[in-house]
Amino acid sequence: MQFSEVLGQTQISSLLREGARSNRIAHAQLFDGSEGSGSLALARAYAQYLHCENPSESDSCGICDSCKAHMNLQHPDLHWTFPFFKKDGSGRSTSDPFQILWRECMLESGYIGLEDWLSKIGADKKQLFISVDEALEINRKLGLKSFYGGFKILIFWLPETMRVDTANKLLKLIEEPTDKTVILFVSQNSDRLLPTILSRLQRIQIPRLTDAEAAEGIAKIAGISSESALGWAHVTEGNISAAVRLSQSGDETPDLELFSSWMRACWARDGVALLKAANDFASPGRESQKRFLTYALHMVRQCILGNYGADSLIRLTQGETVFISKFQRFIHEKNVVSLRALLEDAHKDISGNVNAKVVFFDLSIQVHMRLRIEI
Ligand SMILES: [Zn+2]
Repeated sequence: MQFSEVLGQTQISSLLREGARSNRIAHAQLFDGSEGSGSLALARAYAQYLHCENPSESDSCGICDSCKAHMNLQHPDLHWTFPFFKKDGSGRSTSDPFQILWRECMLESGYIGLEDWLSKIGADKKQLFISVDEALEINRKLGLKSFYGGFKILIFWLPETMRVDTANKLLKLIEEPTDKTVILFVSQNSDRLLPTILSRLQRIQIPRLTDAEAAEGIAKIAGISSESALGWAHVTEGNISAAVRLSQSGDETPDLELFSSWMRACWARDGVALLKAANDFASPGRESQKRFLTYALHMVRQCILGNYGADSLIRLTQGETVFISKFQRFIHEKNVVSLRALLEDAHKDISGNVNAKVVFFDLSIQVHMRLRIEI
């Protein structure tokens, strides 16, 4: 992947190239950005640039043997680690059985999210992790001699899914790297990384894309019109992978129905409707649950913007506009802060593996009380 294929992020791209050209290349770096910001695409473009035999000021050459190997994802000095699950009957638990699927995923798009990966490997409801065996395998791979004589590069996607025992096995490698080794951690939740790891990384903060930048990518990857892509960019707040997924699901806004029926049930404290909403919330996997809570936060924010008449900032589809026009009067300055905090806490609990129905019920009761606060 070349920098020219990365959407937006021109300032960071140019800093990365400048650093490489002046040989300021930290051996352990953190690409810290939300899903859909393009952090993975940036890491790939940077790795190709570091390996390129004839890089220019603006990009890797795209035609040398190294670049060609990168474009086919066959470069022998480029290694990958990502979360996976333990396959039944397999002895050691490493990413090896998933490497081919991973390469397929990477060749399809530089902008994938965890949900895409979960469905690719058929793990919708499984908890993914990075095992101790994988850490040992990383140590082994990076301890080998470089094939082309240049850098050995590891792109480590979602290191926050690493367990403590796994992270401990990597500390030495991060502190005292083997010769010519560069590890690029690509994280979407860096606050969940162990402080001992985090403190040893050179952090590159990657901002979210603007809606226009995201729309360009969404239109190209999903093959939809620019207008429709811009609509998806608004709804997902510039998250390309989520937008592509949603645009291909055929459902305009899959979470709107659940959100609106849930809000009605919370307001009325309707036990039967709340039970149904809890089941609908808990039945898909954790990633979908987190997506729903992010969506709920988005809707709460839109209500407040509507109340303040900030129409130019409102990002809604037609169906959402109809719902919000009736609902926004229930969200106001006396409950918005606590509602947002509740949704954020629920998101953290779901990430932390707390039982989804328990989280949802508790949240529903709290939301009921906040909605009943009068302005
Ligand atoms: Zn090249």
